[in-house]
Amino acid sequence: MTTIEPAFLTGRPAETSSPLSPAGTGGHGKPGLDGAESLEFGVIGNYVGGQWSVPDDARLEDIFNPATNKRHAKVAISNRAEVVRAVDAAQAAFPEWRRTPPVERVRPFFKLKELMEAHFEDVSRAITQDHGKTLDDARGEVRRAIENVEVACGITTLQMGYGLEDGAARGIDEWAIRTPLGVFAAICPFNFPAMVPFWFLPYAVATGNTFIVKPSEQVPVALLKIFELIDRAGFPPGVLNLVNGSRETVDALLDEPRIQGISFVGSSPVAKYIYTRASANGKRVQAQGGAKNCLVVMPDAVPVLDKAVPNILGSSFGAAGQRCLAGSMLITVEGAHKAALEAVVEASRKIKVGYGLEPGVDLGPVVSASAKQRIDGHIAEGEKAGARAVLDGRGASVQGYEEGYFLGPTILDGVDAEMPLSQTEIFGPVLSVTHVPTLQDAIDRINASSFGNAASIYTQSGRTAREFRYNVVAGNIGINVGVAAPMAYFPFAGMKGSFFGTLHGQGRDAVTFFTDTKVVVERWL
Ligand code: NAD
Repeated sequence: MTTIEPAFLTGRPAETSSPLSPAGTGGHGKPGLDGAESLEFGVIGNYVGGQWSVPDDARLEDIFNPATNKRHAKVAISNRAEVVRAVDAAQAAFPEWRRTPPVERVRPFFKLKELMEAHFEDVSRAITQDHGKTLDDARGEVRRAIENVEVACGITTLQMGYGLEDGAARGIDEWAIRTPLGVFAAICPFNFPAMVPFWFLPYAVATGNTFIVKPSEQVPVALLKIFELIDRAGFPPGVLNLVNGSRETVDALLDEPRIQGISFVGSSPVAKYIYTRASANGKRVQAQGGAKNCLVVMPDAVPVLDKAVPNILGSSFGAAGQRCLAGSMLITVEGAHKAALEAVVEASRKIKVGYGLEPGVDLGPVVSASAKQRIDGHIAEGEKAGARAVLDGRGASVQGYEEGYFLGPTILDGVDAEMPLSQTEIFGPVLSVTHVPTLQDAIDRINASSFGNAASIYTQSGRTAREFRYNVVAGNIGINVGVAAPMAYFPFAGMKGSFFGTLHGQGRDAVTFFTDTKVVVERWL
């Protein structure tokens, strides 16, 4: 194993050398590794027990900028032994961290917030380079991550238990304490590389646990940047650990007996697998899965389409549709179809596709060449099944970035309930459209889906909105809001095939997930 001193690279251009890092290697890589010298983010290793390192036996995978198709990093894929090493470090740090008073435990989080604010632009830019989303989208994601740190800074209040004098009998008091459990781990998706880990990490650690994060192997740069900041925030070694890897790394985490619980976000089949395997191993699990979110337009929203349409576009094409809250199906109710479809198509034509770091760009590339190929395939399959492409983004090309994985906004009309398109999560800038006679038909269509992540309605009627909110089986409901993203102090909800478990990420749910209740019945003789 090669151990590397923290480089504090944030903000340092790749070409300049740091006294703590070999010239041009970037990241936390081994000097002399093949090709590492020319990589902007270097070879990305692990942060375990307060030290950066690349395991000697790790497989290295190439990481590309999706807008340029240029390799900008290599990531180390960790094996079981590396997971054991991380758990050793986290387990060793737990007793002292647990004993640290909550008011002291949050001090490194205050420092981390300061550091994240100071390096806000640098982290955001790195996300755009690694993931492809526009700089504004990346900034939004970093802001959400910071907000979770801010909420966890209130753990002295959030973690408080409750008690009752004479609660058991005369002279016998009773109270409940929320106590941490030990080591937790999070397994994260590619689409929000900075935000999703922060649905869990601040709450787990502020409540007194120690933590391991496994980012998506497709986008490891954001957490490289953030762990450079974590390294400076003052957490004791072993409290927070970063282990890069893929499936074999995940399985090692799921099977490791000293890990108390797993937080997962990703696609539904993997969420179900994680939930099943980790639960069978006796762990607590919260596994957030995929989505197929519907946006319903009522006829009474037609007069306000000028306000609704930009919101619909943001939901469907923001982050190139690679959001679990993306509106991927537009359901128009009798009387709204023609006007809504025309307005959405017209506005979508004006969307500027390009490299997310450039000003004025609305829509960046999708994450990988294989994702682009998969999305193209879904569109072709939809057409074959009878859907009509009223706007076709295939073949989009961006001058100067001809190698990028670009796909323009695509709108498919006439997507009936039985078509695979209406059930499959596409996870790209593709909006399917269907027309139904009544609100009840729209609700039935939504509830027939195996997913239950989010649903939104555009209406001017409070009564209609209430009926929708009351009857739709989905975790995150938007009323004239296309991306109903819960703030850090609310749980990130999800139902049916979009969530496996009981307690969600963020807010009070997270505090409950990362603690156990100890009830004390006390009598003094
Ligand atoms: P993914 O399921 O492919 O991967 C997620 C994580 O699981 C990664 O860390 C990956 O290494 C690991 N993984 C993948 N396949 C595995 C396997 N067979 N065994 C063990 N581990 C495995 O998801 P993704 O493509 O990275 O992310 C996109 C998905 O995440 C979409 O379905 C999206 O809807 C979902 N998502 C859901 C939410 C939510 O809150 N419900 C939020 C964000 C993303």
